[in-house]
Order: sequence, then structure tokens, then C-alpha cells
Amino acid sequence: MTIGIDLDDTLIETTKTGNKYLKKFITDNRVTDYHDLSKDEYLKFYKMYLYDIQKEAPLKKDALKVLKYLRSQNIKIVIITARGTLGFADSIPITLEYLKKHNIVYDKIIFKKNHKSASAVKEKIDLFIDDKEKVLDEIKRVGIKTLRFVDNFTKSNHDTVSSWLDIKNYIDNLFGEVKNE
Ligand SMILES: [Mg+2]
Repeated sequence: MTIGIDLDDTLIETTKTGNKYLKKFITDNRVTDYHDLSKDEYLKFYKMYLYDIQKEAPLKKDALKVLKYLRSQNIKIVIITARGTLGFADSIPITLEYLKKHNIVYDKIIFKKNHKSASAVKEKIDLFIDDKEKVLDEIKRVGIKTLRFVDNFTKSNHDTVSSWLDIKNYIDNLFGEVKNE
């Protein structure tokens, strides 16, 4: 079995970390999430802080423990991320260093993918986990199981989880299904 995972806001607490930097970037409270900045401001913000955010953002709670568990079950782990796009090429070495520093176990990482379905098919992924509905919609269309990571209850076309322990339980159940077939 092969699991595909996204990095930002799935494995890594990116937005929450980024929004701490947003407070340095704007002094008023007109936006509280950097994704809501205008396109020009967003790029300016990224140029100033993206690499710091990518270096400093913590892993989501229990992510490392669950990844290690999945590996112990002989599950292959493939990371597919959009990092490296928009001209931020240094994101690639920064991310590789980060994953090494945090002892993340994975079999392969694929960068610069805003659209992930072709890679997911190529890597024979059985289940893909991401926080973005649109990304998952595309992957579901090619017949791959999808799981959405959400912080709060969110209406979704996909099964949802809100912690890495939920992911562990979800995959354990999936295994049960496979074994009973
Ligand atoms: Mg993401």
C-alpha cells in the first residue's frame, strides 16, 4: 500500500506559523490570514518570510509517530507538494533539510506540483491526504481514495480527519477492509 501526503497544513503547521509572521508584515488587522492578502502583497510577504516559515513551522502533532507506525506496517510514503513553484526554488533544499532534521521517514518526494493527480497515478498511490478540497477533487477523479485534513468541521466531498491519530485510525480501518477482501 502506498500513501501520498501533502506537506503544508497536512504534515506541517504552515498557515498558523505564517500568520505569526503576518503580524510583522501588516500592523493593522485588515487580514488575519496571509492567504487573504492581495496578490502583490502575498508575493511580497512570501519574498520576506517564506523561507523562514518553511524552516520554522512545526510538524503537526503526532505526525512523526504516525508516519513511523505506517512505515512499520510496510506502507510506502510518497510526499507530493507544490513547494518550489512561484520562483521560490530554494524551498526545495530547505524542505529536504527540514525533513532530515525532523527525522521524517518517506520513500519519495515530488516538488512543484499544484496539480497532483498525474504524479499520484504514476506513484500508484492508494490513498492521498491533503488539506485542499480542489487538490483532492482532482485526485478522486482519477480513482484514488482521498482524505482531507481539516482543522475544524468542514463540509467536504472527501472523508475528513483533524489529527494524525485520526489518520492512523482511518488507515488501520482501511487495512481491515483490505484484509477482509
Ligand atoms: Mg497543503
